[in-house]
Amino acid sequence: MRILYISFLLTLFSLSFSNAQLLTNKHTFTRQDTLRGSITPERAWWDLTYYHLDIKVEPDNKFISGKNTIHYKVLEPYNVMQIDLQPPLKLIKAIQNGEELAIKHDENAHFITLKQPQNTNTVNTLDVYYEGHPKEAIRAPWDGGISWKKDKNGKHFIASSCQGLGASVWWPCKDHMYDEVDSMLISVNIPAKLTNVSNGRLRLVERIGDTKTFHWVVKNPINNYGVNINIGDYVNFSEVYDGMAGNLDMDYYVLRDNLEKAKEHFKDAPKMMEAFEYWFGQYPFYADSFKLVEVPYLGMEHQSSVTYGNQYKKGYLGNDLSGTGWGLKFDFIIIHEAGHEWFANNITYKDVADMWIHEGFTAYSENLFLDYHYGKQAASEYVIGTRRLIKNDRPIIGEYHVNHEGSGDMYYKGSNMLHTLRQLIEDDEKWSKILRGLNTTFYHQTVTTKQIEDYISEQTGYDLTEFFNQYLRTTLIPTLEYKIEGKNLKYRWTDIVDNFDMPVQVKVNNTEKWLYPKGDWKTHTSESKIKTFEIDADFYVASKKS
Ligand SMILES: [Zn+2]
Repeated sequence: MRILYISFLLTLFSLSFSNAQLLTNKHTFTRQDTLRGSITPERAWWDLTYYHLDIKVEPDNKFISGKNTIHYKVLEPYNVMQIDLQPPLKLIKAIQNGEELAIKHDENAHFITLKQPQNTNTVNTLDVYYEGHPKEAIRAPWDGGISWKKDKNGKHFIASSCQGLGASVWWPCKDHMYDEVDSMLISVNIPAKLTNVSNGRLRLVERIGDTKTFHWVVKNPINNYGVNINIGDYVNFSEVYDGMAGNLDMDYYVLRDNLEKAKEHFKDAPKMMEAFEYWFGQYPFYADSFKLVEVPYLGMEHQSSVTYGNQYKKGYLGNDLSGTGWGLKFDFIIIHEAGHEWFANNITYKDVADMWIHEGFTAYSENLFLDYHYGKQAASEYVIGTRRLIKNDRPIIGEYHVNHEGSGDMYYKGSNMLHTLRQLIEDDEKWSKILRGLNTTFYHQTVTTKQIEDYISEQTGYDLTEFFNQYLRTTLIPTLEYKIEGKNLKYRWTDIVDNFDMPVQVKVNNTEKWLYPKGDWKTHTSESKIKTFEIDADFYVASKKS
């Protein structure tokens, strides 16, 4: 998503309160959370194949109306279908084969009773019509909805953002991440003086009176929150990138007044593509092109139309999240949000509880960008620097089936976990092969944490069960407790899950060495009296001398 929840300065100030928060993170979940967050019987029987979202946006009235034509394959016969749409928007009718169907409304979920027999393996279509004033985003992209803004020239500047909250905040859909359409058409009718930019490629612009309809075609699977509309007084420039899979169209849509600035500033985009194709493998959506689209909020990883609002500054709104200086070498939003094309849009979580798959790997991609362009030392300093943002308030993985995100630590504890893993593997060729392998093995798929864990364990040849349990499912930081007695170094892990036995690199009297600590004390005997001892800072662990 949507980068960090609060500004990094606020985060630093709040570090001292993080212990208190440990006690206040118990959630209670509602029936609506379950309807939204689980694969209900009314969802499980059908598989999405295609959406045609066809809407009219009236900026002066802040009003949306239109329909979504849903194509789906019947997996097993059933006659009630759940479609999600959040009030104040209204689902006004559902039509199949020319017949209007009965709808039972339950707040955000709508249960449509189908009349036509639903035979296994047939592909059917259903039209759902809706309209209303969608929830307005106040602090996009964090709260989500539609941002109805104006640019400096008084022109409408409008954008959708909806991760977490759900796409059903602005259009009717099957609002669960496990099921993606294989392709999509997005048609948006707006006043003729404005331009709408959505995902994929622009197929056609139709002039209808004083309006225009923009038809955007997405040829690849896309998740719900990845779908977007961006409406403004846009101008466009583009380049062709010579990428791993041939020519890649890279298109940029920015406000008219920002064209010259953007042409200079967006040079980070091809640099990003070069670094990430190297580390993660080919860009996953060549057929849909890559776009950066200026929006009135900070940014979001909308698939093939990554949205940008970082004010043409380096870093995160001009700030370095790592505090090392390296964070000012790149535009955070271009690098981070585009990194999500691999981890979020290509490999997508099935359940938002596993959101670290998006944010952990993408926060990690920031240091891989530095690694590619500035070297290993820069990358290492950056990722270690971001540890100041880790709170250890609650586990990275959230609760399943209730649309619940884990801790914000999924970003920089996630990236530091992966950086630690790179040290354990101690073979960068192998590590990049694993990162690329994830992107080919789970190409255009929705996945669980377990699948990612199993793949990495299998490829490394290590059983990483406890490693992932420790970092993803607890707030404990493995602590290397040690004593120095003459030539003897005694050491053990504390604050660990059962059977945690991660090796760690240390320097004893300035000589590098691997230790293999467990929960019980072990002894290393040095050749001479131990004068200095340090743990390799690349490992995200704590230490305690006793
Ligand atoms: Zn993100």
